[in-house]
Amino acid sequence: MNRSYPAEVDVIIVGSGPAGAAYARVLSERAPDARIALFEVGPTVTDPPGAHVRNIADPTRRADAQRRSEGPRGGSAATVDSPGAVKSGERRGRPGTFLLEDGFAADGEDGLPVAAMSSNVGGMSAHWTGACPRPNESERIDFVDDLDELLGEADRLLGVTTDAFEGAPFSDLVRERLAATADAGREPHARVQRMPLAVHRRADGALVWSGSDVVFGAETRSNANFTLFDESLVTAVIVEEGRTTGVRVSDRRSGEEHEVRARVVVVGADALRTPQLLWASGIRPDALGRYLNDQTQVVYATRILDAAAEPGDGAPPAAGISATSGVTWIPYTDAKPFHGQVMQLDASPIPLAEDDPVVPGSIVGLGLFCAKDLRREDRIEFSDEHLDGYGLPAPRIRYTLTTRDHEVLEQARAEIVRLAAAVGEPLGEHPFTLPLGASLHYQGTTRMGVTDDGESVCDPWSEVWGTQGLYVAGNGVIPTSTACNPTLTSVALAVRGARRIAESL
Ligand code: FAD
Repeated sequence: MNRSYPAEVDVIIVGSGPAGAAYARVLSERAPDARIALFEVGPTVTDPPGAHVRNIADPTRRADAQRRSEGPRGGSAATVDSPGAVKSGERRGRPGTFLLEDGFAADGEDGLPVAAMSSNVGGMSAHWTGACPRPNESERIDFVDDLDELLGEADRLLGVTTDAFEGAPFSDLVRERLAATADAGREPHARVQRMPLAVHRRADGALVWSGSDVVFGAETRSNANFTLFDESLVTAVIVEEGRTTGVRVSDRRSGEEHEVRARVVVVGADALRTPQLLWASGIRPDALGRYLNDQTQVVYATRILDAAAEPGDGAPPAAGISATSGVTWIPYTDAKPFHGQVMQLDASPIPLAEDDPVVPGSIVGLGLFCAKDLRREDRIEFSDEHLDGYGLPAPRIRYTLTTRDHEVLEQARAEIVRLAAAVGEPLGEHPFTLPLGASLHYQGTTRMGVTDDGESVCDPWSEVWGTQGLYVAGNGVIPTSTACNPTLTSVALAVRGARRIAESL
């Protein structure tokens, strides 16, 4: 079927991940008369659009949705199921994601060998874990004075709960044991606690992961002025006399090129491709692509052997997540600059003896994400010579861990060994440090700042310095060094930008 793109709208959103979806939702609620077009390069792989693929009960259909999310060459690269399975040195992506084909590490630098993206309606939130912790201490953006209210709004948009796994076997025990070893000296809000998760329980008892579908909500889906165009690659943001006037977009179904005019353009195309699109459009503030940061991740597993099996049949549900997967949060502090995500696993990440059945909930996977020592020279670069699979300037990563990063990493490795021993009997001799980029939390490349001093790309409302009407969205906007999962914060910042656009319209 031919489809027609509008010649003009009020607001264009590029990218349908949670950041782009948050703009669509807030604008639908606050500016219902605004005409909004959302362009997403990837296909629609779920119903409703943007839903989490794990909510698809049929494994064949789920695998197909994941494969179709894996970029222009759809599923050609090998994938691995869990971060614990990403052994050092292997370049493999997670299901639903695809890796940079090249340019992921410059000679003599660490690079981000497994930096990944997703191309589908919903972006990475169709494949994510849904952990939504709040930033703490220096992770917080001190010049965003309404941050807590915005984070609360982000909780609402993402459907965050803390009780989805209530009753998961051993989860209280895991938390008690972690608290006994980690809580000393911590403020109450920074103590071991349930992980806030973008997961809710349906009336029939099934657990459902939020994707962008939840962020869009009924408000966006029923907004007659909102249209989502999938398989639509935005190739340039058009700027005339210092303000944006629209985009050029390529219909990947027909190959036709279009120009769509708008008063406001929001680019939420992930932390690698938002700077790519700005660069391709000739919008190149000094800080574009700089202060790139990822959270180096250490993982380990431990097993609870000294407690009897708890009640519950332990059988994983047909769709969604297993009820045996309690998730625990150990918040970041400046004294311990890493963030802990502890998940009870359905299976052991390392082989166990055949006559050694896993008691549901008794295998505990620990992950610590480290905050990066921020540097201007860690960056993503582009040139006209190398093009990616979509024909846009291919990202080139320049990235190195500093001495401080190695110290924090060592501290995290020692801490995870301590935590694993406190919970149970550690599985394997030592923790793994995952290949850089495995966190899937890339930040800083379109960072927010208070003044246009060459150190930031956008103002505190996400509008790009020097280009009126152009907003950036997603993890790239976060200016601080965070260790916690960033999506909640990105959605909070998107809410702030969207409110300002709604006022301006
Ligand atoms: P994305 O979700 O990446 O969406 C960007 C969209 O833009 C994509 O769909 C892309 O196709 C589209 N796009 C790019 N370029 C163009 C273009 N030129 N034209 C049109 N469209 C374009 N985060 C957490 O906070 N907690 C977690 O527990 C967590 N777990 C994760 C687990 C996995 C396996 C994965 C894959 C990710 C995880 N993340 C987690 C990361 C999280 O999913 C991302 O932080 C979040 O999705 C980012 O939202 P976004 O809207 O900025 O970008």
